[in-house]
Amino acid sequence: MSQTALETLIDALHRLPGVGVKSAQRMAFHLLQHDRQAAAELARALDGALTAVHHCARCYTFTEGELCPVCSDDARDARQLCVVETPADQAALERTGSYHGLYYVLMGRMSPLDGVALSDLGSQGLVQRALDGVVEEVILATSFTAEGEATAHVLAQGLKSRGLKVTRLARGVPAGSELEYVDLSTIAHALNDRR
Ligand SMILES: [Zn+2]
Repeated sequence: MSQTALETLIDALHRLPGVGVKSAQRMAFHLLQHDRQAAAELARALDGALTAVHHCARCYTFTEGELCPVCSDDARDARQLCVVETPADQAALERTGSYHGLYYVLMGRMSPLDGVALSDLGSQGLVQRALDGVVEEVILATSFTAEGEATAHVLAQGLKSRGLKVTRLARGVPAGSELEYVDLSTIAHALNDRR
């Protein structure tokens, strides 16, 4: 029995994180009944993003070029590589204005309960990236949640075994915190006090 177009739409919306079946139905009905123009724009935006956006060849974040703007910036200190979970965390560090090195964006963190293993993240490229001969220090700035700590622990083992200097943001950041929601001076301190 084949699905109707409406059922297919509801299923697709239901696959988004945090969207239950009821919410997916509400979104579909809203778009089709009240805002067909927004629905068309959403379809075009998705199509455009899927075509244009891919991973930066150096740091794995989303970008539309071969390299993202940060990796393309010659003024950055290529001896420091800061590992973050998401582009939002990277943006939080950038806003402090106190970090001038480069980044590696994992696009997530290990989460055994949700079935996310280290191998599902951009972590494989990290070791290769860190061994470019220029990087002198890898700063682990994953979140201070249980999953973020576990991710940092496993990454540190892998990087240290290859002779790389690895540091972790200091513990000024409250336990359980997503970096993106922590205030800037706290992040800046955690960065300066890393060990
Ligand atoms: Zn990049």
